[in-house]
Amino acid sequence: MRKISLLLSSLVDPIKRDNWLVNTQQSLVRTVTLETRCLFCASSGAEHGICAACEADLPWRRIPWNKRLPYVDEVFACFNFAYPIRQLIHRVKYGRDIACAALLGRLAAQRLFERNSVPDDSTIFPVPQTRRRIMRRGFNHAVEIALLLARQFSLPIDVVSIYKLKSGPAQPTLNAAQRRTNIQGSFAFRERLKIHTAVIVDDVITTGATASAMAHTLRLAGAKRVVVWSIAAA
Ligand SMILES: [Zn+2]
Repeated sequence: MRKISLLLSSLVDPIKRDNWLVNTQQSLVRTVTLETRCLFCASSGAEHGICAACEADLPWRRIPWNKRLPYVDEVFACFNFAYPIRQLIHRVKYGRDIACAALLGRLAAQRLFERNSVPDDSTIFPVPQTRRRIMRRGFNHAVEIALLLARQFSLPIDVVSIYKLKSGPAQPTLNAAQRRTNIQGSFAFRERLKIHTAVIVDDVITTGATASAMAHTLRLAGAKRVVVWSIAAA
């Protein structure tokens, strides 16, 4: 009650009201200033959370992915899985840091736009997680990143048609052979897809076992071409 009357008096008292306005404006200025600081070196003028110097220093992937993956036509990874990309992905995945997801999505979109033709007839499919894992983490980080890419390229995104069947041990805890066995047969589709190109979006590609298993399911569902976009390659 005291708080309410204080607030009311500050609204009716011109001096207090002006102070309140000045304080509000100052806090807005502070917010805007903070948002334009670089996440890495804290220098000002970083419009999208990273300054030009830090952006140039990122571990951009210079060599194309050359491993042949069954059912996959093309793999494109934007970064090497190294500092600070590894830490950013970790913050999105385990800290639900949406600002980091936005930054990764924007950087990946920029790279994809420069290096890759993005076909008009593509549909984006973030790698799904089991219901249990989504319940535990509260969200699917691949969806957060894929949403940004879909918006950047004005492509449709499908988070329903392909789903994850089982939850074995987490892929990062296994070796290459175990990963292939663990992931085989772990995706399914709800109905046949009327699409040409499916774009799988994931955070990190390591052996490619997950991408390949999901591509197999997408082919069975009717996709003619399957492309993988990964933020990083380990
Ligand atoms: Zn910087």
